[in-house]
Amino acid sequence: MSQRDVTYDADDAYEYECLRCAETVRATGHPGGCPECASPMRNRRMPYE
Ligand SMILES: [Zn+2]
Repeated sequence: MSQRDVTYDADDAYEYECLRCAETVRATGHPGGCPECASPMRNRRMPYE
């Protein structure tokens, strides 16, 4: 099996918002970049990050 564990369980998934196009992605880890425009994303549930 691959090391990439892509799951979308609500338990430990966070919602990330693109700073440029406002695209949102749910992931268990930081997605690294927006799937639409590759811009940085921020965790919407962590205002202190
Ligand atoms: Zn984007």
